[in-house]
Order: sequence, then C-alpha cells, then structure tokens
Amino acid sequence: MIDRIFWKKQFDKDHFPVWTCSKCNTGILELLPDTFHFQLTGESEISKECDAWDHEWVALRFTTFLKCNNKECQETAVLCGKGYVDQEVQYNSGVPEQVYVEYFTPEYCYPPPAFFKIPSKVPDEIKKEIIDSFSICFSQPNSAGNKIRTAIEKLLTLQRVNRVVISKKRKRIRLNLHDRILLYGKKNPELSKNILAIKWVGNSASHTEGLEIEDIFDAYDLLSYVLGEIYANSQKHIKKITKEINKKKGKR
Ligand SMILES: [Zn+2]
Repeated sequence: MIDRIFWKKQFDKDHFPVWTCSKCNTGILELLPDTFHFQLTGESEISKECDAWDHEWVALRFTTFLKCNNKECQETAVLCGKGYVDQEVQYNSGVPEQVYVEYFTPEYCYPPPAFFKIPSKVPDEIKKEIIDSFSICFSQPNSAGNKIRTAIEKLLTLQRVNRVVISKKRKRIRLNLHDRILLYGKKNPELSKNILAIKWVGNSASHTEGLEIEDIFDAYDLLSYVLGEIYANSQKHIKKITKEINKKKGKR
C-alpha cells in the first residue's frame, strides 16, 4: 500500500526522501546537491521591500537533478517544485539558536519515481500511461486520473475485452469503459470490481471538484493489486512450477 505520509512530506535539501527509480525499480533516486537551486518567487522578492515583511511571506521555487544509484541504471531525473521558509530552534553546543530552514515540496519529476512497483510483465503501453501519471500526480492529480483511466482502457483491450458488440438486430454497438468493465466481469468478477473502482476515480477527474493526490493513491493501490493479479500472479506461478516439477519427478 502506498505510504501517504511519506509521499506528502516536505523535505529539506539535506534530507531528500528515499525514492525508488521507476526505470529499474530497484535503485534509489539520489539528489545531486551541486545541482540544487532555489529562488524566491517574484511576489516574494517584491514583498521584501515592505516594512511588515515576515519570513512566512517567502515562497520559493526549486530545481534539482536526481540520479539512480543502481550502477546498471544510472538514470537521471529532473525535479522541480515549490518551497517555503520556517523558523526553528537548533542547538549549537547546547545553546538554542533561531534559524531559518527552507522546506520543499515536489511538483513535477521527469522521469518520475515509482509510486508502486509495476510488475515487469506489464505491457509497455500500459506501463507508459502509469509512469506518465507518476510524473504529474503531485501537481495535476486530475491529469494523472485521466492517464490512469487510459491505462485501464488499454488493460481491457489487452485482456481481449471487446470495444464493440453486435446487437440482436445486427447493429454494431460501441461499448463505453463502464460496459467493457462489466463485460470483463463475466471472465473475472472479482478483478472487474477493482477496475470499476479505479474507473470511478478516473471519472472524478472530469468533475469540477477534481481529484486530490489521496484519490490518486487509492487508484494506485487498486491498480497495483489488479496488475499484480493479472501479470504477476504468484499463485498461478506456484501452481505452474509445482505441476512442471511433479511431472518431471525431480529429473532435469
Ligand atoms: Zn534506476
């Protein structure tokens, strides 16, 4: 399950969170300190001239490169976002001292970290939609919701769920996503319920109230489960190797 607190936490320059690389799924994207830069927003810069200025008025923009620490991957990513300044007490040889600390929140990362591990057997066309959604889920949850919706459209197509059916009067009827999920339910009733729930999240993306990142995390939890069941079903794998080994009776 996606750790909501972890992904929503701000960071400071010296304590970047442990993000898994979405390219190799094993390495960690480490912040390259030399590439880390931040600036005040225009409004914050102008507000410095005001007599009533306070650190709480400061809004920052940052940019940095990240690099995967897996030697066989070494993917680089660019991350940007926003920040603010907080006043804290730090102890210098036991003496309390007021200091200002900059905190940052990510807005966009390309290529993005892996919010969940996509099973390796998931076809590239589905994987691409999910990774695209990872890139924008911080700042544009609605667009991420649309990507997730496209991912399940593609999943159904690859699961050979028809887009069109022929009516009794021999008319071609185009099925919408909802109907296709119900059709998939004839083959796999349990998973179709999970997919339907993902679809409801995607639907909210077009509503005026929009989506929050928590909604996207719900969809990711469901999607992770569905993809795991379809493309990395361990029960199926265990059954298969048990059958093969028993058939050979230990002979190689
Ligand atoms: Zn990597």
